[in-house]
Amino acid sequence: MLIRFRKKADFEHYRSSLLPANARLGFVPTMGALHRGHLALIKRALDECDLVACSIFVNPTQFNQAHDLQHYPRTEEKDLQQLLEVGCSWLFLPTIEEIYPEGPEKAPKPFSFGELEKVLEGAHRPGHFAGVAQVVSRLLQIVKPHALYMGQKDYQQTLIVRAMLQQMQSKVKLVVCPTVREKDGLALSSRNLRLQAEQRKLAPKIYQYLQEARQSFLERPSAFRQIEKRYLEKLGQLPDFRPEYFSFARAHDLKLLSELPAEQPPPASQTVLCTAVWIGPVRLIDNLMMGEDVLPTKKTSTQPQAGENG
Ligand code: AMP
Repeated sequence: MLIRFRKKADFEHYRSSLLPANARLGFVPTMGALHRGHLALIKRALDECDLVACSIFVNPTQFNQAHDLQHYPRTEEKDLQQLLEVGCSWLFLPTIEEIYPEGPEKAPKPFSFGELEKVLEGAHRPGHFAGVAQVVSRLLQIVKPHALYMGQKDYQQTLIVRAMLQQMQSKVKLVVCPTVREKDGLALSSRNLRLQAEQRKLAPKIYQYLQEARQSFLERPSAFRQIEKRYLEKLGQLPDFRPEYFSFARAHDLKLLSELPAEQPPPASQTVLCTAVWIGPVRLIDNLMMGEDVLPTKKTSTQPQAGENG
């Protein structure tokens, strides 16, 4: 059974009366338009917790472009069906007023993440991570979960949320789950729904290039600048594609390799390759860890591996 809550007070009331003592509550925050990537987080939470709450809230304070917010896909009925089928226990569907009683523009953004919020996504989406931390912290105060499940697809977001939990001195356990992909390698994203047929056909190039670049990096890590340049060019040559970045970074703090002293390159296992690409009006992100343990064989190099970290 899926219980739906629109009001924060109702959620809080039911949480205190329905959650058995010692039961573990898992939480999966989403913006809806649910797909197998979201469902994988819910399934993992169901495996590890007694009850799972999911939220659907398209958070206005993390969108830096009004157009993106307006066009963000909303598929509430289908979402409900999928949550029922997967066995999610509680769904929190708040209004903007419930989360931001003072109004989204006036709501304080109490966290600061230094360089981590200014690099990569932060550089291209100013204020995005302040909005993410703001909404996740507010949701955590309402849901009060024991564990929080997030996807590696939004790699930088997981580092921001980890840092936020530290700043809050929170005991919530953050569980980062592997990126779920289409058969052709494209990372599942709610925004994929907005791709036109021709754009959708080419979109798997993003993952293909990440994999090729990983292969080149593992063969010659010192050539990372040339690799970044080569694949930025290749992406830019595809019709409707406009890459924003294709950058190697140190996995734990996203310091760019291009800005680290040459004599201190992190090992491949602690290097991540991140990219953001516009395809027409749709902006997609993806990433790949450079660790050799996840290097695919040549034969399957464009095929996603089951449960592969991406
Ligand atoms: P969103 O609804 O896009 O805000 O995403 C909600 C959660 O689902 C975030 O923790 C995302 O990282 C995660 N997520 C989105 N797409 C995927 C995917 N393809 N694989 C795994 N997790 C994902």
